[in-house]
Amino acid sequence: MALIVQKYGGTSVANPERIKKVAERVARFHALGHQVVVVVSAMSGETDRLIRLAKEINPQPNSRELDVMVSTGEQVTIALTAMAIMEMGLPAKSYTGGQVRILTDDAHTKARILGIDEILLRKDLEAGTVVVVAGFQGVTEHGDITTLGRGGSDTTGVAIAAALNADECQIYTDVDGVYTTDPRVVPEARRLRTITFEEMLEMASLGSKVLQIRSVEFAGKYKVKLRVLSSFAETDNEGTLITFEETNAMEQPIISGIAFNRDEAKLSLLGVPDRPGIAHSILSPVGEAHVDVDMIIQNTGVDGLTDFSFTVHRNDYQKTLNLLQEKIGPATGAREVRGDNRTCKVSIIGVGMRSHAGVASRMFRTLAEEGINIQMISTSEIKISVVIDEKYMELAVRALHKAFDLDGAESQIEG
Ligand code: ADP
Ligand code: ASP
Ligand code: MG
Repeated sequence: MALIVQKYGGTSVANPERIKKVAERVARFHALGHQVVVVVSAMSGETDRLIRLAKEINPQPNSRELDVMVSTGEQVTIALTAMAIMEMGLPAKSYTGGQVRILTDDAHTKARILGIDEILLRKDLEAGTVVVVAGFQGVTEHGDITTLGRGGSDTTGVAIAAALNADECQIYTDVDGVYTTDPRVVPEARRLRTITFEEMLEMASLGSKVLQIRSVEFAGKYKVKLRVLSSFAETDNEGTLITFEETNAMEQPIISGIAFNRDEAKLSLLGVPDRPGIAHSILSPVGEAHVDVDMIIQNTGVDGLTDFSFTVHRNDYQKTLNLLQEKIGPATGAREVRGDNRTCKVSIIGVGMRSHAGVASRMFRTLAEEGINIQMISTSEIKISVVIDEKYMELAVRALHKAFDLDGAESQIEG
């Protein structure tokens, strides 16, 4: 007998038929003697609909009220899912995040989980009841409803699995695992049977939305056995397992995956004085405005002047541009302020990079052959990211996928 947490995303609970399918799978696992906790998202499109509605009242809605509102999406699906499981003849009970005390900080719309009171869940499970918990939501110590950021139900699933010390956390979605890149962009993308935790963390943070980054962080911290699989497959499949073992980089494919992110915007200050403290005078007002900076580049100075560029999330682009034009530019004496919100970031990821030379040059040559200009580059031990014009994003991803032998049958990865 095992304790299994199954998280179902929006498309997996999109309508009553899909919810019945969820109940059937839960019943199959229950019949095998397993204890099952189900975590569900809102029906697909519902969270977007609620956010749009709020924005009709105020383009920047109060974040506490927004959380009260968007958390209703998941409240609907937990009840429907519990009803569907009961229809299968099993005892089931639904709970909101607040009811199981998924305690979070008070950072509304992007709250962090601080703890989960698992006693209630354990009692139900021991009585043979299937527990259905709302994803994406929590509660502060003062009883205010919070949400965990877009895609946050993944994190609820993994956090509950960690709290209950579950045997496995299964993330059911509309693809049958983690692929070498988004299969909706590159049809030749292949499912990975396993991916290392480090690689998954990079993939998630660099734009692969198949798992919310915080869910991967949680899995790493509490060593949760985490698997991504399809809720649409007729027979139970193995999906992709996130692994934690030390891997021998020599035996790994050089590149395991390619991630991309359209949300990048680039800002530059040209002709700023090249003196100690200049980076601080540019970036600290940006930080004070609660804008997160991603990549940063400072040119070599010439004649006492230098150019400084950085990227921010596209949602923060206008705010940051105004700040540079009105305050930071004049304060630093910059010759010119430039901005471009039509950029994107494409990254190649793989622990195999540690033991192979020439990966960067292969990446840059591939982009050059496609006539794609690289605007910024950043590297770490297991990834290389470039900022390019967004109109070349899909071309770049497809070309790199081929160049690193990730396409179809030529892949070095076992599928
Ligand atoms: P859910 O609603 O189930 O949480 P999401 O839409 O959040 O589903 O995540 C699944 C989607 O992630 C897939 O439909 C796919 O388009 C996208 N995706 C992006 N990168 C990858 C990848 N490397 N492997 C698999 N899916 C990916
Ligand atoms: N419903 C939430 C969202 O759309 C949470 C989730 O689906 O994981 O972001
Ligand atoms: Mg998701």
